[in-house]
Amino acid sequence: MTVTFLGAVRTVTGSMHLVETGDTRLLLDCGLFQGRRADARRINSEFPFPPSSIDAVLLSHAHLDHCGNLPTLVRQGFGGKILCTPATRDLAALILRDSAEIQHQDVNFANKARARQGQPPLQPLYTIDDAEQAIRRLRPVPYHQTFQVGPATGVFYDAGHILGSAVTVLTVEGRTIVFSGDLGRTAAPIIRDPEFPPAADLLIMEATYGDRRHEPFERGGRKLADVVRGTVRRGGTILIPAFAVGRTQDITYTLHRLQDGGKIPAVPTFVDSPMATDATAIFRQHPEVFDAETLARLSRGDPFGGRDIRYVRSVEESKELNARHDPFIVVATSGMCESGRILHHLRHHVGDPQSSLVFVAFQAADTLGRRLVDGVTPVRIFDESYEVRLQVHRIESYSAHADRDELVAWVGRMPRVGQICLVHGEEQQCMALARHLGRRGIKTIVPQRGQRVTV
Ligand SMILES: [Zn+2]
Ligand SMILES: [Zn+2]
Repeated sequence: MTVTFLGAVRTVTGSMHLVETGDTRLLLDCGLFQGRRADARRINSEFPFPPSSIDAVLLSHAHLDHCGNLPTLVRQGFGGKILCTPATRDLAALILRDSAEIQHQDVNFANKARARQGQPPLQPLYTIDDAEQAIRRLRPVPYHQTFQVGPATGVFYDAGHILGSAVTVLTVEGRTIVFSGDLGRTAAPIIRDPEFPPAADLLIMEATYGDRRHEPFERGGRKLADVVRGTVRRGGTILIPAFAVGRTQDITYTLHRLQDGGKIPAVPTFVDSPMATDATAIFRQHPEVFDAETLARLSRGDPFGGRDIRYVRSVEESKELNARHDPFIVVATSGMCESGRILHHLRHHVGDPQSSLVFVAFQAADTLGRRLVDGVTPVRIFDESYEVRLQVHRIESYSAHADRDELVAWVGRMPRVGQICLVHGEEQQCMALARHLGRRGIKTIVPQRGQRVTV
């Protein structure tokens, strides 16, 4: 069996690895590479193998950087099955449709400029039709149920990263590859903790935070409670930018829990995003992957709902929020304030010193979110300049990725690991983790793109 590392190699997006055994070829993930437009276009549209030669894809989870290039694969001739857990199937369908829509809008926007310059129009990377074709190929397999692909036997374990996320175990003739996918953290809200896979001859492991340590989750809950109490006392509004899938549910669940426990006052809360509303509906359909605490809450009512939490779909209702004068909380996309309804709320409240903006995720360079975190003022929102007077807070404990200590502890709980290849991390994070694991006597490499390893 060989593995060729093709994507999310010394970087974090575009997860894709090719496993070959005999004449069977499998892909682990087929994620979208995100970066500068021209690079992304080339990397996402040119596969280093004929897509028709792939027998099956094993999809670790529904994040775009893991599933987002499946429609291109199908468009270019892939005709096999895409195996994943049932929750991943439902979330991936939502995310792929949304991604096709974004591709469409991006190309329309770019083509307007190209038309002015007399250049021919671009085609989108894929269409909604391509996305639907890919969705039709998704085949759900629950955790712990074995499946057969050619000579390989596979099984998914819970990765504890997002709803439905899986650690993939593949065995051929007594040799085993374990692919961590994105690995979650112990004690994360809603979902169960990462499971420990069996012995591996080769472990392909993510290293997003290979050189960092996170705050514990509980500290995040306490910080959020402090901000909510303080802002409500001042009569301000609390804005929380959050990704629609995963982080929004973590936050609504936490707010619900804080309110239940009397840690924050009853304050109207609005999840202002159709996509987050749809994603939350999918969460509700998959209680089989909830942890014990969430199941207990479920038996008493909706863990993502409650008296004061409202899901907002229509634009009219979203606009009506701007007319409110009582304290309230808005959770809206996008997570880095680059687009979406959060921008309308920001424009309305950014100059109000009584209000608070709470970041609950990493803010990438060159985003509005990052400028706000860095204390830049004034900022541009919809091409107008605004002085920043609201209070900006940052809660870093909601990361869905294991940190260095958690990654090392997870490896330590496996019965045996022959060799580790680190992927899905910036080079410096991978190298630091490789040194750390190396000191523990585990052979660890950080592969280059295109490098092949024999198991
Ligand atoms: Zn992920
Ligand atoms: Zn990822």
